[in-house]
Amino acid sequence: MRKIAIYGKGGVGKSTTTQNTVAGLVDMGRKVMVVGCDSKADSTRLLLGGLHQKIVLDTLRKEEDVNLEDFRKEGWGKTLCVESGGPEPGVGCTGRGVLTSIGLLEQLGAYDEEVRLDYTFYDGLGNVVCGGFVMPIREGKAQEVYIITSGEIMAMYATNNICRSIQKYASIGSIRLGGLICNSRNVDQQDNVIQALAEQLGTQMIYSMPRNNMVQRAEFYSKTVIAYAPECQQAQHYRNLAKAIDQNTNFVIPKSMSNDQLEKLLAKFWLFD
Ligand code: ATP
Ligand code: MG
Repeated sequence: MRKIAIYGKGGVGKSTTTQNTVAGLVDMGRKVMVVGCDSKADSTRLLLGGLHQKIVLDTLRKEEDVNLEDFRKEGWGKTLCVESGGPEPGVGCTGRGVLTSIGLLEQLGAYDEEVRLDYTFYDGLGNVVCGGFVMPIREGKAQEVYIITSGEIMAMYATNNICRSIQKYASIGSIRLGGLICNSRNVDQQDNVIQALAEQLGTQMIYSMPRNNMVQRAEFYSKTVIAYAPECQQAQHYRNLAKAIDQNTNFVIPKSMSNDQLEKLLAKFWLFD
């Protein structure tokens, strides 16, 4: 089974892209589990047709005997959906909560052979603002990372910072970067900038996902684009990204840049006068 963590700046499109891509993998016949690691618990909404009602940490707080089926729900295309949830406000650390949830999944056999999962996706790990968010990669819970980015400068800064963390833990563990996913914000030259950024970081731009209002329409109905409008162009883009991930063999320890180097790279594309 491949265990994939999705990182990226807040609001860049991690949860949307993850679930839509998972739908693409399901279309290819893959069996997938999604583990939401965000206290917002919105990493599985499009697969479940609404927000998950049984969050792991809440279930643990309320019940003594916990079974997998108490918090693992079946979603679209027989996906398995789990939301870790967050600690009580002001108490504890989200990263630790995520590790507790993953530990419980392991203990209850969610990753065992008989489940026959091809993929587990971890979404909601943010942009590594706090040590807690790197726990899943530090503890070897995920082996493969994709960073969602856009042509916006702050998204690229976050991408470089995330690479710095991956670099640190990759040197002592098995975590590797599988690529950058450009989630379009229709910024000038975005594909060229991200391709150049990927090259500097020693990785690839695995896909460039167009911005399309179909994503919002599907979201309104709590669906992925593939479930809502399987024939539309955007659905095909998510299938293409799923295929690119499924066939990816380019896994690296990234080489992060200094902020100065990053600024110089951006200047190459955007210094007009
Ligand atoms: P957070 O860091 O808060 O968890 P996120 O990175 O998970 O955010 P999303 O919630 O997936 O971001 O996306 C933010 C918004 O952007 C969503 O409302 C979604 O509909 C929209 N969006 C994401 N990708 C696209 C796209 N390719 N085309 C159009 N809209 C998109
Ligand atoms: Mg999210």
